[in-house]
Amino acid sequence: MAAPRERIGFIGLGSMGRPMATSLIRKRFPISVFDTVAAHVATLVESGAAGASDLTSLVSTADVIITMLPNTPDVAGVVSGPGGLLETGHAGMLMIDMSTIDPAASRSFGASLAKKSIRFMDAAVGRSPAHAERGESLFMVGGEASDLERAHPILEAMGNKIIHCGPQGSGISMKIVNNFLAMATCQISAEALTLGSKLGLSMATMYDVITNSLSSNDHLKTYWPTKVLKGDVEPGFAIDLAYKDLSIAVSAAAAAGVPVFAGAAARECLGQARTGRGLGGKDITHQGAAALNPSPSGGRIPHPFTAPADSPSTT
Ligand code: NAD
Repeated sequence: MAAPRERIGFIGLGSMGRPMATSLIRKRFPISVFDTVAAHVATLVESGAAGASDLTSLVSTADVIITMLPNTPDVAGVVSGPGGLLETGHAGMLMIDMSTIDPAASRSFGASLAKKSIRFMDAAVGRSPAHAERGESLFMVGGEASDLERAHPILEAMGNKIIHCGPQGSGISMKIVNNFLAMATCQISAEALTLGSKLGLSMATMYDVITNSLSSNDHLKTYWPTKVLKGDVEPGFAIDLAYKDLSIAVSAAAAAGVPVFAGAAARECLGQARTGRGLGGKDITHQGAAALNPSPSGGRIPHPFTAPADSPSTT
């Protein structure tokens, strides 16, 4: 007889958490969900999850806690805040943090939880919400092999590529490096296409040349056709989150004594988009909308353009 499935408590039901939790429901895992926005909980309850009204009730009834939260302080709240794991968790539980947060903080969460015999793994997520909808996320895992073995059926229910990066903290470190490259590339793509547009080149011509030459990248190939080139600048992946990821990476680089001039400049550009133009809640590809419609709100396509069907993945 198959071993009974572990009870999952899932926290953070936004662009990524909602489709990932839905995949677990589809694969028949017993799952309770919590989010500070009640409507997000209600959506998952409609799909078959049990809704928790607070952290305590979620933590006390779960074997495995999954967090998919915006930033480091949100995850800290689940670990050491009121009703969190240090207060209401039990020995033998496993926490899997899938949020993109500061690697040093992630390692400290693992160390604090270990004192209560609670296991901790970082399993940062690659690719987009569309991949998460299809159960095709990529996981960058940091932790003990035995914890990964335990978590494997859960991760497999949400994704199709699991990479064990090393000990605890390695998965989130890998994610920061990956997003540093992805966000900086996305910003430079937006600047290049805006320049081309000002020089009188059509989007169709630029897209054809760039995606068939060495300057191509997956944001252009994957995200632009489904988002910005259709006039859709809603997240997806918000500029606020991209700025947060680049900030973590730039700080980590400073701490490691690594000069990252281009990445720091990309971070400044995203910072200006957030605070100067109020675009923090828009998709990262919004920066590219400037190439098509240079108005501050962007997004409307003056000459609709359909990119050729294509596309591998990765974010
Ligand atoms: P999101 O803002 O869409 O969702 C976050 C959810 O967490 C929201 O539903 C919010 O209400 C909830 N929340 C916030 N604080 C909370 C708290 N203290 N307790 C409970 N719920 C809380 O963000 P997202 O795009 O789903 O991203 C989540 C994490 O995954 C981030 O760290 C992000 O950087 C990372 N990530 C995002 C993508 C992407 O493409 N969107 C891809 C990979 C990784």
